[in-house]
Amino acid sequence: MKGKLRIAVSLALALALALCSIPMAPAAEAAGYTPPFTTVRIGLYTYQDDGNISERNFPSNNLQNVTGAGWGFEFGYFDGQRNFVPFGARVEDTNEVSVILDRNMVYSSASNSYIEGDSGAVVVGCYHLRLDGSYADYASARAAADTVDGGFVRYQNGEFLVMMGSYRSADEAASARAAAGISCAADSGSAYTVTVVQTRTNRILFEFDCGSRLNLAVRPIADEGVKAQTWHRKCIYYGDFVFMRNTGGNITVVNYVNIEDYLKGVVCYEMSPSWPIEALKAQAVTARTYLMAHTKKHSTEGFEICNTVHCQAYHGVGRATANSDMAVDLTAGQYLTYDGLLCDTYYASSNGGASENSENVWSLALPYLRGVADPYEADIAGTAANYYWQKTYTPSSLGAQLRAKHYNSSDVVKVDMTFTDMGNVYSITFTDRNGVRNTVSKADVRTIIGGLSIRYTVNGLGPSAGGALYVNEGIEVPEGLEGAYAIGGGGIEQLPTGELYAVTGSGTVEKLEVAGTAYGKSVSTGVNSSGNFVFSGTGWGHNVGMSQWGAYSMAKYYGKTYEDILTFYYTGAQITNTLVQ
Ligand SMILES: [Zn+2]
Repeated sequence: MKGKLRIAVSLALALALALCSIPMAPAAEAAGYTPPFTTVRIGLYTYQDDGNISERNFPSNNLQNVTGAGWGFEFGYFDGQRNFVPFGARVEDTNEVSVILDRNMVYSSASNSYIEGDSGAVVVGCYHLRLDGSYADYASARAAADTVDGGFVRYQNGEFLVMMGSYRSADEAASARAAAGISCAADSGSAYTVTVVQTRTNRILFEFDCGSRLNLAVRPIADEGVKAQTWHRKCIYYGDFVFMRNTGGNITVVNYVNIEDYLKGVVCYEMSPSWPIEALKAQAVTARTYLMAHTKKHSTEGFEICNTVHCQAYHGVGRATANSDMAVDLTAGQYLTYDGLLCDTYYASSNGGASENSENVWSLALPYLRGVADPYEADIAGTAANYYWQKTYTPSSLGAQLRAKHYNSSDVVKVDMTFTDMGNVYSITFTDRNGVRNTVSKADVRTIIGGLSIRYTVNGLGPSAGGALYVNEGIEVPEGLEGAYAIGGGGIEQLPTGELYAVTGSGTVEKLEVAGTAYGKSVSTGVNSSGNFVFSGTGWGHNVGMSQWGAYSMAKYYGKTYEDILTFYYTGAQITNTLVQ
């Protein structure tokens, strides 16, 4: 009996210690936060339904200005302060341009894009004739280009050159040069040249080559005060576009866009625009904060963050509604801070019943990323996507799964798991029939079994159904704490005697049970009666920070505000307005 009590006592102590270590909200008012820039750079990758980033650079990029009736673009570049510097080069007689590699390119109507090749109805050759001399400004070069057939302007390392024609080979260019009878040289561009053509034609509008130092920017033309909207790869975006060949290969496209306009293309993809406004507002603040907390994530690629779920889903404003836009407008300039610093506002679809301390999933313990028992998800468990999930393995297939993850294992005969105080899986150990043991912990407990969250059981064994109490089976009272006191059934009692109570994840006080019954912090099992290991889980995501479906439930069924939602999921955090300067 004494041994069993010790088990319970150690848990009470652990809980008490854990509760004491939860940081309190800072008392002082947040000082305000001012973002270092208001135009952000978003890398536009191909939208993959599975969230994978498989394509990020393209040989051909179409833009279509769809602002109102839609017309025209102007060309320039962005300086170090993110200001658009126009060349004065504009095209106003078409609303569709394509930025392509300066190689032999053929227009493909099947894909409405240009692909490398030199035969077809519409070919843009990479050989041009470069007229002698250069110009300091675009207008002078354009005037000169207008005097020759097929003339266009190339901006190259600080000067404007007059070019003409497009030919597929040096021979073709040489023949054209002889026929033209003017002083010029054949030129096939560099590995950094991009060519702007009118889409579906071989009409060259502009060329740009500043090596890897400077990149072409294309700005859609719109009336004063009207925000331009531009179609690019099945999505409609606000803002401008920059085309980079930093490594001399295919073109990376970066959307230069105002922070708030960017958010209007995030909120409507991270949540359904039809969700309650308070949930959408919570999403707007988390997404705004996440953006500015992760500006270094893709810095080596020339932009802040990407448009996939690798960072935040952003596919323009085609799905935005008045409701989702309002969520951004009503929270404009608001960030989530802790102790005056931006929070790392992780969020995910759902947590399955409880989120988790950041250090139990990754490594860094952040004071505002504490696990919380989530009673709100119960209302959406039946409707949230992928809320319930199950993975079933035989001893053989589980061994194969481990080998696929590069672990050395034969058929698995035993699985041991330990749980966090929130009832999420902390570690999992697989023992194979030769006695080889493989243990993974934290975020890996999700991927190792191909699961959707870290909240699951094995063969029905796990923390209590309510996810409330967990006994540290087999764990002794820590050395040096023998004889310490804990809260027992009769008040403060010396360990290890008496009935012991703990505060549960949902805030109630309950008597601790002994291990081996309903509660267990660690479980151990062989195959079930069907010969399988069955992992049954709830929740979809990494279990850190806000649950999007939880936010939905809080707003829809409990009348909670976005401040309630944010402070529930981010312990001790504050909403901070941008300082007005
Ligand atoms: Zn990314």
